[in-house]
Amino acid sequence: MIFVVNCMLVHTMLRIEFLRQMIGGSLAFSGLKLSALVNELDSFQASPLMPVLFVGHGSPMNAIEQNDFSKSWNLLGKNLPTPRAILCISAHWETDGSFVTAMPNPKTIHDFGGFPQALFDVQYPAPGNPALAAEIVKMETARHISEDHSWGLDHGTWSVVKNMYPEANIPVLQLSLDYRLSAESHKELAASLKKLRERGVLIIGSGNLVHNLRMVDWHNPNNGYDWAVEADETFRKAISSEDWPLLLAKTNWKDALKKSVPTAEHYLPMIYPLAMKGKNEEIRYFNQQTLMGSISMTSFIIS
Ligand code: ZN
Repeated sequence: MIFVVNCMLVHTMLRIEFLRQMIGGSLAFSGLKLSALVNELDSFQASPLMPVLFVGHGSPMNAIEQNDFSKSWNLLGKNLPTPRAILCISAHWETDGSFVTAMPNPKTIHDFGGFPQALFDVQYPAPGNPALAAEIVKMETARHISEDHSWGLDHGTWSVVKNMYPEANIPVLQLSLDYRLSAESHKELAASLKKLRERGVLIIGSGNLVHNLRMVDWHNPNNGYDWAVEADETFRKAISSEDWPLLLAKTNWKDALKKSVPTAEHYLPMIYPLAMKGKNEEIRYFNQQTLMGSISMTSFIIS
C-alpha cells in the first residue's frame, strides 16, 4: 500500500501569502478565523489523514473567472498537502449504480449550454489513475462500485480542481452519485470509503447546499433570498453538530430547506466528506455566500 502524503510540501512562502491574503480580507473565507487557520495548516503537517472538502461550485464560469471563489480554490491547492490523487463526487454525474472513473486519461466534459466559447475551449488534461480505481473497486464498501471507462471529468469537478491544481499534474477520479440510493445509503457508502484518506487521496464533494436554478434571480448577483439564507444557516448548523437526522430526513424539512433542495444531486455531495469526518476533527467553513437568490457557495474543510 502506498502512503504518499507529502505534508512537507505545505510551503512556508505560500503559507505566508495565504495568510497575508486572508488578513487582507480579499477572499471570501468568512468562517475561517486567522488563529484557527494557522492551527489548521499546522494540523495538515502533523496528520496522516488527508483533509476532506465540500465545495460549492456554483456557475461553471468560476472555472475561468478570477473571483473570490476561484482564488480561494487556488489557495487551497497551494496549501493542502499534495495528494496522491483526487476523488471527486460531483453533482453532475448521476448513474444507476456506483461507478468510479478508471481511464488513464479522462476527457474534459463540457456539460452545460449557453456559456461563452472560452469555457468550451477549456481542457483539463489531468491523468486518471486506473490502479487507484481498481483499488477502490476491490475495497470493502457499503455498496458495490464498478469501474467506468466512458465518463471523464465534468464541470462539477474540473471547474474547481483546475483552479486548485492548474498544472493538471494530480490524477483525478470521479465517483458517481447512484440516483437509486437514499441519503442514508450515500452516507454509508461514503463512510466505507473513509480509509482512502489514509492513502493520500483528497476527497472532494462538489455541489451546492442551496441550489434552485428555477428561482435564480439574475438581477441579484450578490445576495440570496431570505429562505436561501435561512436554509444555508440551518444546514451549516446541522453540519457542525453532525445532526444526521435533520440532514438525511428531507420529508421533515421546513419550506426553506425544501425550496433550497428541489432535487438531491447538488446536496448529496456534501454528505460524502461529512460522513468521513473523524471524531476529533474540526469543520471549517469558507465561501459562505448566498447569491443570485437561490444558490449558496458555502463550503467546508474537515481536518
Ligand atoms: Zn452544478
